[in-house]
This record gives sequence, structure tokens and C-alpha cells, in this order.
Amino acid sequence: MNDISIIVPIYNEKNNLPELYKRLVESASKVSKNYEILFVNDGSKDESCEIIKTYATKNANIRYINFSRNFGHQIAISAGIDKCNGNAIVIIDGDLQDPPELIPELYKKYKEGYNVVYAKRKSRKGEGFLKKTTAKFFYRILSKITSINIPLDTGDFRLFDDKILKHLRLMPEKHKFIRGQISWLGFKQTFIEYDRDSRKHGETKFTYKKMVNFAIDGITSFSSFPLKIVTLLGFIVSVIALIIIIYALYSKFVLDRVITGWTSLIISTMFIGGVQLLSIGIIGEYISRINSEVKNRPLYIIDEDNLSEN
Ligand code: UDP
Ligand code: MG
Repeated sequence: MNDISIIVPIYNEKNNLPELYKRLVESASKVSKNYEILFVNDGSKDESCEIIKTYATKNANIRYINFSRNFGHQIAISAGIDKCNGNAIVIIDGDLQDPPELIPELYKKYKEGYNVVYAKRKSRKGEGFLKKTTAKFFYRILSKITSINIPLDTGDFRLFDDKILKHLRLMPEKHKFIRGQISWLGFKQTFIEYDRDSRKHGETKFTYKKMVNFAIDGITSFSSFPLKIVTLLGFIVSVIALIIIIYALYSKFVLDRVITGWTSLIISTMFIGGVQLLSIGIIGEYISRINSEVKNRPLYIIDEDNLSEN
């Protein structure tokens, strides 16, 4: 057992690795001699893997897992959660946006008796206006529509203890939203604040497409609110339809006047068509997630690791 495990997902971070390694080792050593840094190489296409291996040969506290291909950030973290063996576990990004120097502070709070200490962003440097606004908007909506309380302005940078670890390992869902899972678990959680740096080298791997998917994962994993919206829409449209039906029948049989009009027809057809497709889409998102749960494939494939050597 190590006192602390630090999980670092790595995807094409060769230019960040030297500084990252140095700062991580420094910060981890401040906490305890008995640390492990677990790099999860998520199918990097650059030389990240080779670089990590050289660190592992010169420092016995360095472990690595090498995926067979790119599986994504949340899955890389999940692999770390499955394979780490510390009493306290830290998740940190590998692009130096999360300063490793904060780890001793997180650990101090943990020693005060908290099960989870997350790092809350006071400011975010170097990220576009659109990314910041969408992120802000998303977390506010999420906290409104889910019953759990996902803290605002936090990523996955946090420390948690072995109790949380044990329960996370028992949560088998395929579409991971780890920050949500940790909030859902409860226990004693607290936070410290920090200024988020900009990326040192390279650029973000989160395209808008990935961000949208991640957002949908977060919502579908923790809320059935969109399904309720579908029901509500159906209800509202039915009420409107009923009113129009009564009006149409009244005009025809009582007033003896048939309403002519392409306009009203096309509007109602398009409107109902749109509502239906939207509703099917929302239901489809949930069904596709059920589908991937049922297939029950392994979450990731490990090509090689040095876990057993240590
Ligand atoms: N990452 C990963 N797999 C991916 C995308 C990203 O392991 O498919 C890693 C990446 O190397 C970094 C962390 O996840 O250490 C956060 O990614 P990034 O900085 O691109 O995200 P952002 O900070 O822009 O949200
Ligand atoms: Mg980043």
C-alpha cells in the first residue's frame, strides 16, 4: 500500500511530460516517500509512452498503463482507479493546467478527516470564451436538473480516500462521469480554491464534439429530466391539438364553414414532426446508453503495464 497514488491520464503530452514529472515527484515526495505516480497512456501517438517508460526505469515509484488505443479521458482515469493502490488517490491532468504543487494542500485537508477534497477553479486562464461560457452554463443546468449536488467549477482534479475508491470500483457504468459519481457517493467532501493555469504545451484534446458527448453522458447518467421534458412536450402538443380539433369541428358543423389554408396545415405538420424527432432523439440517447451497458464490453484494453513489477 502506498500513502498516495497520483493518477495522470496522458494523451500526446510529450512536451509537458518532463516538467510534469519533475513537479509531480517533488510534490508527491513532500507528502510521503511512499507514493506512486500512475501514468495512464491513452493511446498517445507521440513519444509520450517511451518517455514515461524511461521515468519508470529510473524511479521505482512510477507506474504506467499503456492502452491499446485512445479510449478517452474518463476511461483513462477509470483504469487508474481500478489499478492504483494508495490510501489517498489524486486525479490530475497531465497538461499542467492543474498545478501539482496543490497536492500537499489537498492531502492536508484529507488528513483533517475529509473523504474527498476537490480543487475548485477560482479562475481559468488560457481557455476560450466559448469553452468557459458553455462549461459554466452546463454545470449550472446540471445542478438544477440532477438531484445530486455536483460542485460548480470543478474538473476531475481532486483527492479522495480508500472508501471512495472502493465504491467507485463498484460502479460499473460504461459512460463515465467520474466527478458526478464522486458527488453521488456523498461522505465528507470539501474543497480548496486555485487559479487554473493555461496549458503549457500542445492544445486541448476536447473538441466541441467530445464536450457535447461528455455533457450528454453527465446528464443521462444522473438525470431523467430530458425524458420528463419529452412527456411534457407531448402533453402540451396534445392539448394544443385538442383545442384546434374542437375549433375545426365547430367551424365545420356549427358554423358550416370549412377553414381553408395550406399555412395552418404545414405549420402543424412541421411542428409535430419536429417535436416527435426531438423526442425520439432524446429517448434514443438513453437507449443507446442502455445498449452499451448490455453489451458489457471491457471499458479499456491494456497493451502493457509495469504494475506487477512493483
Ligand atoms: N486526455 C486523455 N485522453 C483523451 C483526451 C485527453 O487521456 O482522449 C488527457 C490529456 O492528456 C490531459 C487530460 O486528459 O492530461 C485533460 O485533457 P485536456 O487538457 O485536453 O482537456 P481540457 O483541459 O482542455 O478540458
Ligand atoms: Mg487541459
